[in-house]
Amino acid sequence: MDLEKRLTDLVEKMYGKTIRECSDGQLYNCVLQLTKEEMEDKPVISGSKKVYYISMEFLIGKLLSNNLINLQLYDELGQVLEKNGKKLSDIEEAEPEPSLGNGGLGRLAACFLDSIATLGLPGDGIGLNYHYGLFKQVFRDRLQRAEKNDWIEKNSWLNQTGTSFTVAFGDRKVTSVLYDIDVIGYDNGRNKLHLFDIESVDEELVKEGIDFDKTAIEKNLTLFLYPDDSDEEGNLLRIYQEYFMVSNGAQLIIQELKEKGCDLYRMDEYVAVQINDTHPTLVIPELIRLLTWEEGFTMEDAVQVVSKTCAYTNHTILAEALEKWPLEYIEKVVPQLVPIIKELSARVAKKYKEPKVQIIDKDKIVHMAHIDIHYGYSVNGVAAIHTDILKETELNHFYKLYPEKFNNKTNGITFRRWLLSCNRELAELLTDTIGDGYKKDAKELEKLLAKADDTAVLDAIEGIKQQKKAALAVYLKEKEGIEVDSNSIFDIQVKRLHEYKRQQMNALYIIHKYLEIKGGKKPVRPMTFIFGAKAAPAYVIAQDIIHLILVLSEIVNKDPEVSPYMKVVMVENYNVSYAEKLIPACDISEQISLASKEASGTGNMKFMLNGAVTLGTSDGANVEIHELVGDDNIYIFGEKSDTVIAHYAKADYVSKDYYEKSPVIQEAVDFITGSQAMAVGHKENLERLHKELLNKDWFMTLLDLEDYIKVKDQAFADYEDRTAWKKKMLVNIAKAGFFSSDRTIEEYNRDIWKLK
Ligand SMILES: *Cc1c(COP(=O)(O)O)cnc(C)c1O
Repeated sequence: MDLEKRLTDLVEKMYGKTIRECSDGQLYNCVLQLTKEEMEDKPVISGSKKVYYISMEFLIGKLLSNNLINLQLYDELGQVLEKNGKKLSDIEEAEPEPSLGNGGLGRLAACFLDSIATLGLPGDGIGLNYHYGLFKQVFRDRLQRAEKNDWIEKNSWLNQTGTSFTVAFGDRKVTSVLYDIDVIGYDNGRNKLHLFDIESVDEELVKEGIDFDKTAIEKNLTLFLYPDDSDEEGNLLRIYQEYFMVSNGAQLIIQELKEKGCDLYRMDEYVAVQINDTHPTLVIPELIRLLTWEEGFTMEDAVQVVSKTCAYTNHTILAEALEKWPLEYIEKVVPQLVPIIKELSARVAKKYKEPKVQIIDKDKIVHMAHIDIHYGYSVNGVAAIHTDILKETELNHFYKLYPEKFNNKTNGITFRRWLLSCNRELAELLTDTIGDGYKKDAKELEKLLAKADDTAVLDAIEGIKQQKKAALAVYLKEKEGIEVDSNSIFDIQVKRLHEYKRQQMNALYIIHKYLEIKGGKKPVRPMTFIFGAKAAPAYVIAQDIIHLILVLSEIVNKDPEVSPYMKVVMVENYNVSYAEKLIPACDISEQISLASKEASGTGNMKFMLNGAVTLGTSDGANVEIHELVGDDNIYIFGEKSDTVIAHYAKADYVSKDYYEKSPVIQEAVDFITGSQAMAVGHKENLERLHKELLNKDWFMTLLDLEDYIKVKDQAFADYEDRTAWKKKMLVNIAKAGFFSSDRTIEEYNRDIWKLK
């Protein structure tokens, strides 16, 4: 039946109206229904070996546009709606964004599911169905406030499955319910994202903001992603969540194996379990527990087969992000795993004397990553430099034991979302210029290099950028109430707020420019500085940095002498949907983490693909971007990772030395507590941040500030050579193919999963 007829019938059945008479919200529900039916018609991808990607986060973003693109129905449905006086883009706005992830790690998991299905590989996601997910950010009084993010509606992508398992904790037993979201490949079949939940969750538990009783486990287990873990109750809740996820996951895996009639002793021939960061680590002892307690395995047999089935991805070298739980906490939540963890630890202790590789250390702390490395068959980093640092420094003791386990898988992004969906204009231009082969083989983007001197192509790329900037300007006016000049340079830093990502360094640059303009040095072209970032509620300095940016926005935008030349915008509640509007409109992509600290980054890849030029340090995937595009098409500054690592090793970085040596640094830093900022902002926040920068500055902002100013000024100056700049844009787009998550997943499959 044709699409228009089906939609007309559906609209009539659901609302007794015509398409034309429906609101966008009503039409969204109808289109959702229609899309789900289309997906259900697609075959479930099958094979003799399947991967389960277990992750605490799946930052999937809105799904309508992507699913339609992958079903290759987007254009047709768009035309049907247009014929009836409606716009698909308006209907997309009615979809709430699922709030199941936090940042890059969760977004990566979502890109991977898209690519696994697109490549026709059997692979499902396993995670949790958080009702309020990650908090919604609002600004009040120039401070971040966290509110609950209510995303689940009556009609949604979630499908009830009827599957349920019992999960036993030390002090209670709960029954899970499983919801599935279909994951459709681009021109391919479908896999599933399995999200576990419990029926007893009580949304009423949430009072002010995101406060709730952390001890009411039956009521709170799947309420929030990463509840504040600054106290013991929060930590225990994390362990409850982690065990709930992996116990359900392990039971599902074994159930599916049995349904297929597989021999559990050869589990590794049928299943690969990819552990996304340490949060799902307990799946290893849980699988061993299920095999020994319920399937009659000896401990030795269980350990052997599980170790050949599980693989671990490391996402960070930040010490505070590597999970370590007191054994006593695990004992409280899941006492049944303690004898297994002790056995795993004892086996290691018997073989290896080195204290740094022990699972349970002398203080009775359990090192989750150590379980993964000893009892998984693969350990991968997420960009070349990150994997090298793991091998040579952070995990060197393990690398010496198991060199064969270590491998690199440089992250990637799905081009369906980050090009075809968020920048249809650019996708169409590419299709017109180099054909549409790049949609399935991203390396074909390199064909664009042949057009590097074709003025028509260069102008068209610039024209699309201009159109996207104009559209963003309209959106920012409406959403944030700030008017920006779409002829200004759009300089964008959007990512989670963390000191290592150094939003504070960007803020210091803005102060420096503000003071220059006040001093009479006007820039040749206006500049728009855009930030978007949520900060963990318990992370005090991160809150202070947000405060500083909001204070700067107020000062700069309201200063009649300065505001014609620069604007500062901090967008509220940065999420995937916002990213899809910001990234296509960006001229300069800020990737300025302290070298060695950003494992990979994936924002950097999205910007590059959309024709932004990177201003960044030699960190994470920036290094690989640099190698691909060459010196002329990227702006690299700052100390290299070996220098930084040496500073940490010798503990010889003293931020005050840099402050005292440089009048430029001094002036910018002292502005934070100067009379102008104090008049607008809060003394407590500003003074704390000032003190932090001067006395600690753990992520070495002042180390790189002068070079940052110099190189950023150069980038702004180079922007004026329009022909040269357009070429830089073109080269970035052409070289982005390497960062397709299809390439990443092909490598995971080739080296780790070996799916059949
Ligand atoms: C891609 C993405 C991230 C990751 O950005 P990085 O710059 O790599 O930290 C975080 N949040 C959202 C919403 C994203 O889309």
